Amino acid sequence: MIEIPVELGPRRYPILVGRGLALVLPDLLGWARGKKTVVVSSRRVWAMHGARLGRALRRWVDPDPILLPDGERQKNRRTLEALHDRFLDAGLRRDGLVVAVGGGVVGDVTGFAAATYMRGISWVVVPTTLLSMVDSAIGGKVGINHPKAKNLIGAFHQPRAVVSDPAFLDTLPPREVRSGAYEVLKCGILADRALFGAMQAAPPGLMGWRGIEVESAIASASRIKAEIVEKDEREGGLRRVLNLGHTIGHALETVTRYRRFTHGEAVGWGLVGAAWIARRRGMVSEAGFDAIASAVDHVGSRPRVSDLSPAEILLAVSRDKKAHAGRVPFILPVGIGRVVTRDDVTSAEVRRALRVMAGREALLSGVG
Ligand code: NAD
Ligand code: MG
Repeated sequence: MIEIPVELGPRRYPILVGRGLALVLPDLLGWARGKKTVVVSSRRVWAMHGARLGRALRRWVDPDPILLPDGERQKNRRTLEALHDRFLDAGLRRDGLVVAVGGGVVGDVTGFAAATYMRGISWVVVPTTLLSMVDSAIGGKVGINHPKAKNLIGAFHQPRAVVSDPAFLDTLPPREVRSGAYEVLKCGILADRALFGAMQAAPPGLMGWRGIEVESAIASASRIKAEIVEKDEREGGLRRVLNLGHTIGHALETVTRYRRFTHGEAVGWGLVGAAWIARRRGMVSEAGFDAIASAVDHVGSRPRVSDLSPAEILLAVSRDKKAHAGRVPFILPVGIGRVVTRDDVTSAEVRRALRVMAGREALLSGVG
């Protein structure tokens, strides 16, 4: 087991990474013994893992979980209300505990329900997707979508522990694994050359990517996010570097109405775009750009971008929610392992980056 502390003073908590950990949850969370505990999961996750998890949890809690329907659309006010109702029915009080077992959707809405129930009760998160292990489960950002805007309603509410068990990934569709892997690669580019190297050395398209390599990649990426969150718990500024690849990535998701790309795939394209802008500005070498773009392609193929309207993408970029006084901050790599923020990236640069991205499509066939 690898333990990564998230040092947030009175809100400090551990991230525990290791295969099989979900089955020893009652031992890991000894401090929670005796607390009224409610488990929240998704129907899909529980259908695949509920039998073994239920057995393991039985000696600790009533293993019958609250099961949410699947998908991003469920991250809404109705689900939040239903969770509050169920917490109340279960007799959960201020000293109770909520355990969220699922991907980012389950984690975000359950964490927000815990944040708002009785002004905030303890919660623990057991992420079951790669993306949620390395990203959404860490840092305490919880929330739901508004019909008009993603993640509009939310809070900061740190969990008491994050328990990442790679055994969950055995049932995760390969495309979802790759989606999370782009975020892992992002962490390597922004702060960890060794992690970047490990992603380059992973099997192409991540076919058969298993065991200790996966565990250590999860741990390294989690450590990077944890360190950034420690320095900037409430997203004052530094935490923004985690947005590497996301400025163009979010725009791609917007113009395709979230239907074409997984989040990670859009970020993968965004990493190529950001690396190319950095290359044009002389911030990374030609070799540095090639290494980044090839590492992105190595994770796997992504849906195409060449048929999308550059004008629409530019408009979406200009509406980035991190924009300030009309300037959109771009995180740009400076070599591998370090990034800077620039808010003077021009439309012409973005247009050119889009052309370079489109030009790489041909290289992708055969990967993943
Ligand atoms: P998700 O929760 O929708 O899970 C993806 C799919 O995989 C779902 O269909 C789910 O049922 C299924 N699944 C989950 N675990 C599985 C398993 N072990 N085996 C088989 N199938 C499994 O998506 P996600 O990618 O985990 O998370 C995306 C969400 O996270 C978005 O809502 C996003 O806004 C949020 N997010 C939040 C933060 C944050 O800081 N809070 C950061 C990044 C993303
Ligand atoms: Mg992301």
